[in-house]
Amino acid sequence: GGSVFAHILKVPEVPLYAMQVAYGKDPSPLKLNLGFGVYRTEDGKPFLLNVVRRVERLLVNDMSNFKEYLPITGIAEFNRWSARLILGADSPAIKENRVTTVQCLSGSGSLRIGAEFLAKHYPQHHTVYMSQPTYGNHPNLFSAAGLAIKTYRYYDPGTCGLDFQGMLEDLQSAPSGAIVLLQACAHNPTGVDPTIPQWEQIRQLMRSKGLLPFFDSAYQGFVSGNLDEDAKSIRLFVSDGGECLIAQSYSKIMGLYGERVGALSIVCKTAEVASHVESQLKLVIRPMYSNPPIHGAAIAAAILKDRDLYNEWSIEVKAMNDRLISMRQRLFNALCDKGTPGDWSHITKHVGMFTFSGLNPEQVAFMTKEYHIYMPSDGRINMAGLGPKTVPHLVDAIHAAVTTL
Ligand code: PLP
Repeated sequence: GGSVFAHILKVPEVPLYAMQVAYGKDPSPLKLNLGFGVYRTEDGKPFLLNVVRRVERLLVNDMSNFKEYLPITGIAEFNRWSARLILGADSPAIKENRVTTVQCLSGSGSLRIGAEFLAKHYPQHHTVYMSQPTYGNHPNLFSAAGLAIKTYRYYDPGTCGLDFQGMLEDLQSAPSGAIVLLQACAHNPTGVDPTIPQWEQIRQLMRSKGLLPFFDSAYQGFVSGNLDEDAKSIRLFVSDGGECLIAQSYSKIMGLYGERVGALSIVCKTAEVASHVESQLKLVIRPMYSNPPIHGAAIAAAILKDRDLYNEWSIEVKAMNDRLISMRQRLFNALCDKGTPGDWSHITKHVGMFTFSGLNPEQVAFMTKEYHIYMPSDGRINMAGLGPKTVPHLVDAIHAAVTTL
């Protein structure tokens, strides 16, 4: 007989991955990948942090015999130090045992476990508000858990900045109790963050309406170069004693992409609630993958808990951040020098790994076809994909695109 799967239709490749494939097949020596959100060296090579390399060598001696199962919630030490990293060493919420943290499969897995937990245990509201636009996988992660997706205004194409008024209006009209997904810093894909006074206004509005914050932190340190500074938005919300969820990713900040290292924290009002929540998180995780892998989280924990290694790591984070900022300046200067029509000042105003260039889908397609430059059709440029040697090529392409189309 025929296949029992014969009715299944082939769907197109996820666009960002399709772009990776197209880039791989492009034989041009000039090809440039500004699409995929990964950090690269000046020469476009993958970057393994020195501190990670060093810790991994040490661990291999210790750990090569340890292949037992972890608990459902992962490495306890990793969880404790992850909460400290995001909430601060002196966080009252941690001291009062009001935070439960579980090791998950990177940022994506942390978001998904949080979403599953809310779907099951937060029946008051099954709608998540997310920024327009947001990271491409956000809607998938939450709708796969059965939550409804709505958006709040965020990016203003007119100013290439934050539509703060629109954001406040949309949060104001959200039903009380709704979940609101917020990116802690270095917003993907726009490169636009609220200022701290704006965060404070967002906090007041959300708390007064009883909206539940779910923070996604994938780029801590990639805005200011300082890990504590970039956690301020979250710490503002936690310091008022209210509740929130936090998904942390170590993909970019430790360069541990493929190791899938992340944590979900749920900050609760009391220690008792937190312990009940943790017991239920185990029941969410257990039927999904039972328990997480060891290797990457062991590397992260070793770095977080050792003062010298932590300092070494924070210096490397700062260096990655410095490189991103210097690429912004170079690109902006080169566009000015060439006299490319348009105001490009948003390139240096945007923060984090990405800049929302303002190039339209036709211009992006033109740059890919004529200049072998790959980026998503929304015009998001991964600044980490650029180096001093490739800036002129990108500038030629942008110049040609905006003067032809
Ligand atoms: N959240 C944001 C805002 C991201 O940009 C990314 C990755 O690009 C993720 C979450 C998920 O990354 P990972 O699952 O590798 O931690």
